Amino acid sequence: NGLKKYFPITGGIFGKKQGEVKAVDDVSFYVKKGETLGIVGESGCGKSTTGRLLIRLIEASDGTIIFEDKEITSLSKSELRKTRRDIQMVFQDPYASLNPRHSVEQILEEPLIVHGIGTPEERRKQVKEMLEVVGLCSYHAKRYPHQFSGGQRQRIGIAKALMTKPKLIIADEPVSALDVSIQAQVLNLMKDIQREFQLTYIFIAHDLGVVRHISDRVGVMYLGRLIELAESEELYENPKHPYTKALLSAVPVPDPDVKRETILIEGELPSPANPPTGCAFHTRCSYVMEICKTTRPEETNLNGHFAACHLYNE
Ligand code: SF4
Ligand code: MG
Repeated sequence: NGLKKYFPITGGIFGKKQGEVKAVDDVSFYVKKGETLGIVGESGCGKSTTGRLLIRLIEASDGTIIFEDKEITSLSKSELRKTRRDIQMVFQDPYASLNPRHSVEQILEEPLIVHGIGTPEERRKQVKEMLEVVGLCSYHAKRYPHQFSGGQRQRIGIAKALMTKPKLIIADEPVSALDVSIQAQVLNLMKDIQREFQLTYIFIAHDLGVVRHISDRVGVMYLGRLIELAESEELYENPKHPYTKALLSAVPVPDPDVKRETILIEGELPSPANPPTGCAFHTRCSYVMEICKTTRPEETNLNGHFAACHLYNE
């Protein structure tokens, strides 16, 4: 609720603060138990930072985060560690998130050791079971990350996230680094384990096509702000915000009978260190009005479909 993350920009030999990047600027949303919330946007829009803020891998500048009945923002280190059992992350680059000097067994056992779960024997049994859950074989346990393909490594990353039996998984571009043919396999795996383990997902991606089929609702971010949020089908069939419309027009439609006009987004993505006043999208929007240049649009609720754009304000 009201989540903000401002990073200072420093310069000169004394590292004096010269300004700040509003990486996440007043973002609010909720996720229902068992659903998948997709968060999409171009690189630099603050979607990964939002994911990291939620489990306090980085600390928010402002705002509150509530998981079940706990306010994560005010938990002590030891309370936070307990909550981390319930919330796990899957990262974009599984290679970077897996220790190359550890065997798969050591990698998967680690979260259990950290949280003091099970005897060594029980832990190794659980490792073998989890490898099977993600479609690998138990004999893979003795191997090292470099001995696997990208898709297999992401399966290991997913297995690692599942070890503590979490309730919520925040997946930050989990398939973006994979070949298109492998992406679908990993997405299907994630869907299957969601059902099996009754997981809730926050699924971050830059590609609207990727989140469509896995998400129940989708939020779109632009320069640190959540500019639109709706049920998945509704967002794709009936986008409201000019930025979302433009993003969607760039996604190819597989049906040759459906013709969609491609809307070009003019100009470059502005620097997050110096975002435009008013509506952050006004420098690139073809619907821009005078008010857009000076006044930040509030989010308008259009029957459960939220859009932050002056076109929909009274
Ligand atoms: Fe475009 Fe104005 Fe809407 Fe921003 S508020 S998206 S500039 S019409
Ligand atoms: Mg990112």
